[in-house]
Amino acid sequence: MTEDNSRELYDRALSVMPGGVNSAVRAAIEPYPFFVRKGEGGHVIDADGNRYIDWVMGLGPLLLGHDLPEQVQAAIQQKASEGPMYGTPTPVEVDLAEFVVRHVPSVEKIRFVNSGTEATTSAVRLARGYTGRNKIVVMQGGYHGAQESTLVEGDADDPKPSSAGIPQSFSEHTLPVPFNDEEAMREVFEDHGDDIAAVLTEPILGNYGIVYPESGYHEFLREITDDHGSLLIFDEVITGFRVGGLGCAQSEFGVTPDLTTFGKIIGGGFPVGAIGGRAEIIEQFTPSGDVFQAGTFSGHPVTMAAGLETLKFAAANDVYDHVNGLGDRLRHGLTDIVTDQAPSYTVTGTDSLFKVIFTRDGPGPDSLEEQCEAGCRQDPTCSRYDYCPKNAADVKNAETERWRRIFWGEMKDRDVFLSQNQFECQFVSYGH
Ligand code: PLP
Repeated sequence: MTEDNSRELYDRALSVMPGGVNSAVRAAIEPYPFFVRKGEGGHVIDADGNRYIDWVMGLGPLLLGHDLPEQVQAAIQQKASEGPMYGTPTPVEVDLAEFVVRHVPSVEKIRFVNSGTEATTSAVRLARGYTGRNKIVVMQGGYHGAQESTLVEGDADDPKPSSAGIPQSFSEHTLPVPFNDEEAMREVFEDHGDDIAAVLTEPILGNYGIVYPESGYHEFLREITDDHGSLLIFDEVITGFRVGGLGCAQSEFGVTPDLTTFGKIIGGGFPVGAIGGRAEIIEQFTPSGDVFQAGTFSGHPVTMAAGLETLKFAAANDVYDHVNGLGDRLRHGLTDIVTDQAPSYTVTGTDSLFKVIFTRDGPGPDSLEEQCEAGCRQDPTCSRYDYCPKNAADVKNAETERWRRIFWGEMKDRDVFLSQNQFECQFVSYGH
């Protein structure tokens, strides 16, 4: 293996890869990304010999941390040694499917794919195919991967592609609304109800600084979609098997979606995605139905084994108690520290997710009571007590520079690795 340092690797990468990276968010690291040689527990070690406490954790898949337990490693090695894949079904994908079906009541059947993006793309196609309708409602500030139907900005009256290369005519079928805004959702259903195939939302916005649903919001979504014959799709790529433990975030909110998309944790650190849900809907996928879906690598045996053993380990050990307890300590500790430093901020997160948002225009400590009356379902001792952002607009004016300076720049100098991006959540693992 090359002994080049990060600077040298980045120079080489720049000449052969756009932006020197294989995923856009990695290029956001300034002045250049550090190249990781290996992970250990809750740490990563870079090509320059630095050892960081890692709160990025592969952007979420690594529930157990970098040191996979023996049983997970053994299963991965066993599968890899048996010839990596065959283009035909294998026993381990049935085992993982049964595990998910057993623990997530809304999932009666499931199809595995290779990424969260592929999962949401297929879920949107499935919803359209099942309902015979065209439009999808999404939340402003939500993220569902690098796919045509959801890379949209603006509002329901004027949706626009948020990337070059997407025809305006595609975006016209996607209606972005503010999260937690029942009135805006009602209006969209009044205007387009007959043509709305699905409402697609993360149960907790995890790509916009972490925004929690107000009490009753998911119940409202369930009701309005039912009333109009539309589907409710929860994108649990981040929250699945992290928030709410093995039942996922939907169990915490007590709301049953028609479809759920998964990714990250269910692959145990290998590329994965999945679409689960009501049997009669999932059956519309080919070959049992006529919504086309296929993939060379789908249900890859190494991924399935890694995912299954990860989830079995989490079920048999104190993984969720441990990571959620650490999450609580972190959020409370951060709240104490940041209170002294900034007049206007919020520490957000739940379970093993956390983030600090410096809200330039947000309410300061004077309006604490008002905020909690606004409907945050958390109790007043929780870290979100101070200020719960309700939607993308609340987070939009965040002082991104302040985050970058403190949590990226200065913390990196203290050997702590946090996302450089103000809006991406941070992850606690069992390795911490
Ligand atoms: N959905 C959500 C909620 C995500 O956070 C992400 C990625 O972070 C995706 C979908 C896309 O997943 P992937 O990056 O595996 O394609």
